[in-house]
Amino acid sequence: MEKCEQSTTKDHQERDEGNPQRGVKRLASSPVTNLREKEVPTAITPAVSKVTEKIPTDQVAQFAPKLRRVAYIWSPQLIDLCNLLPRVLHRASRVHTLIESYGLLTYGPITVLPPIEGGKEHLLTFHSQEYVDLLEFLNEEEDSEKWMEKKEEFGISCDCPSFPRIFEVAKMIVGASLTGVQALTSKEYQVAINWTGGWHHSRRDEAAGFCYVNDIVISLLKLTESFKRVLYIDLDLHHGDAVQDAFAHTSRIMTVSFHKYSPGFYPGTGSVEDVGYGRGRYHCVNVPLEDGITDVVFYTVVKRVMFEVQKAYQPSAVVIQCGADCLVGDPMNSFNLTLKGIGNCVDFILRWNLPTLLLGGGGYHTPNTARCWTQLTAVALGVRLKSEIPDHQFFLEYGPDYQLEITPSNRPDLNTKDCLRTTVQTVFRRVRLVFQVLSIGNWMLVQFVRWFLNFIHRSCTSVMMDGVPFTSAVIEKLVSAEVFLWRERPGGPGNWNGCHHYMSA
Ligand SMILES: [Zn+2]
Repeated sequence: MEKCEQSTTKDHQERDEGNPQRGVKRLASSPVTNLREKEVPTAITPAVSKVTEKIPTDQVAQFAPKLRRVAYIWSPQLIDLCNLLPRVLHRASRVHTLIESYGLLTYGPITVLPPIEGGKEHLLTFHSQEYVDLLEFLNEEEDSEKWMEKKEEFGISCDCPSFPRIFEVAKMIVGASLTGVQALTSKEYQVAINWTGGWHHSRRDEAAGFCYVNDIVISLLKLTESFKRVLYIDLDLHHGDAVQDAFAHTSRIMTVSFHKYSPGFYPGTGSVEDVGYGRGRYHCVNVPLEDGITDVVFYTVVKRVMFEVQKAYQPSAVVIQCGADCLVGDPMNSFNLTLKGIGNCVDFILRWNLPTLLLGGGGYHTPNTARCWTQLTAVALGVRLKSEIPDHQFFLEYGPDYQLEITPSNRPDLNTKDCLRTTVQTVFRRVRLVFQVLSIGNWMLVQFVRWFLNFIHRSCTSVMMDGVPFTSAVIEKLVSAEVFLWRERPGGPGNWNGCHHYMSA
């Protein structure tokens, strides 16, 4: 076993592929500083992961692979507390133990950071005082009929039952995600990981969909203090409704959600028509999908949409919710994805080389969720994992094959090409409107129109339109009516034909 040392970013992939040990030696001459020397575990190979090798060399090739410094948020208390979450009991320890057993936590570019202590003040940056007070009260209280009405009012029932130490868990989750934010804003790390976070359904004054606290919204709010534009990407099976709604009126954060959208399926929101409001109009992107979607189709859709979003919005930081309930075998029984599908998507985003926070989320088949987030940790580190699950405390739960990979089922894919094409083309049209508003020419035009309308408005300050000041309302109407059009470049990346061709492969 050799020491893992510092690495160059670009070409160690091609020089070292097929010779992991030589690759480790190459790492020694890297200009990247402050990476601790650690031993390379035998269960991993310091090369580009399998999933990245399969990415077609089209327009994404401009984003070169890069050795990333990764912060992994962990402490024994974090795991102990998150093990108490009623709908994902003991999941946190399974995920962490598998990642640890692969030796990923002793690999050079990763640093384990203990979570900061989340406080009431952190929760209050998004949640209401009444809701936080209730969580605090329930922390020590036994579940009793006496408080049923109050709990139901704030969603602590059915999907989100009360449990002992509920307030400590909420604070710990938020503290862990904020530690990830802190790691990114310090510029010492390119990626931060909190697999105990990612609770995207919790609302300001309501627990919902197994989520008691919205650490995502709180993290995004914190990120906007350091980054101009923050992009949120939701890969969970369910729509990221509460995160979208929290930022539906602002352009500082753009939300993109890929999810199952079907009558009666929770939470029932996330139509392609949900685009945001006011200043946030077109900054909410929804890609509704049907059951049975496979790795190739899902990755193609995500890649096409995210390429367009990145080009239009030009984010300075990214948060990805990596819910694992989209995997085949999950009790939600909907999508037909494997680790390769979601791994390809995360790898594509990471190749933008932007500060990125990776969060957990759904995932109700515990061994598969552990497999998925272990694989994503490896993707972030750019290493390949051995297929055999290493022997560890929970090894027997990975039977009967004890392999890392999972196999897709033979269920039909209900996403027709026509339907997908229509959805993606609609999304493209909306996303390009974001670009128009941001582009210099249109920005100047908008500024001129705004100045002109302000000039008029000064003489009639009391005039309102649709409940908002006259000037803002007219700008909004002009943008909505697609007045600021730009000509589509022929054969540009928005061209669906390329995607269609790839999907047919
Ligand atoms: Zn979910």
